[in-house]
Amino acid sequence: MATPRDLRAALLVKPGSRVRLEKLDPGATHGFDKESAAPLLDRQLARLTESQDRLWAEAKRSVLIVLQGIDAAGKDGTIQKVMESFNPQGCTVSAFKVPSTDELAHDYLWRIHKRVPGKGEIGIFNRSHYEDVLVVRVHDLVPSKVWKARYDQINAFEQHLADNGTTIVKFFLSIDRDEQRARFQARYDDPTRHWKFSMGDLEERKLWDEYQAAFDEALTRTSTAAAPWYVIPANRKWFRNLAVASILADTLADLRPRYPAGEDLPPNLVIE
Ligand code: AMP
Ligand code: MG
Repeated sequence: MATPRDLRAALLVKPGSRVRLEKLDPGATHGFDKESAAPLLDRQLARLTESQDRLWAEAKRSVLIVLQGIDAAGKDGTIQKVMESFNPQGCTVSAFKVPSTDELAHDYLWRIHKRVPGKGEIGIFNRSHYEDVLVVRVHDLVPSKVWKARYDQINAFEQHLADNGTTIVKFFLSIDRDEQRARFQARYDDPTRHWKFSMGDLEERKLWDEYQAAFDEALTRTSTAAAPWYVIPANRKWFRNLAVASILADTLADLRPRYPAGEDLPPNLVIE
């Protein structure tokens, strides 16, 4: 029987290996089923709560979680479900949208670096600097020479963060074309979710193949020991949540964050 602990190795993009998303099944469940996954997820969320409490108390290191995926892949839903285990104090979420004029006046990592988590914090990126080799590439927003140089720059930036005490874990949520169609339709059919849908999403959908090629190259070139990518089969939300939660819980457990001893306290103190 599969255990959540198996997912980290199974879904890792091994540094140096070539990713081809079309060879991976976004509907995969790795031997789990929906009913038995629910208690397993609860267990992983409890592990996350425990580790975050220690990390925040220790206040020496930070964790950066990067979420990428095509429109409707489930980035928002993953944040809502998995991150509910965290104490909001000590946790930051940053969503990266179309850059402002001020952001465009700077190098593409400027707005990113400002949002990286401080010591003791867990920082979650809903989209990230990877947009600068994804949407920017697909829409020719800069010359190809410029975005092609960015893979090495991103690896160097992430190595720098890692060398300075930040553990980085990157999740690519993978859905297939038909799942995206169904999710867009559901957004359109539900007036309370119209705010999540625009006609522009359908224009982006036409560029599906271009996006897949951009994802393949980004995942292939930027999964490193310091900042590994995990490709999460995300057609099924319950599996996506279990996979992300258990990989994160294992990553945080490896850090072994410790409660500080505190200052020298006298023995047998009774506070009056
Ligand atoms: P959403 O995640 O639905 O709120 O949409 C955010 C939008 O901002 C997406 O269409 C992204 O592709 C876009 N975006 C994020 N970063 C960049 C960037 N660096 N350049 C251009 N567009 C971006
Ligand atoms: Mg959107």
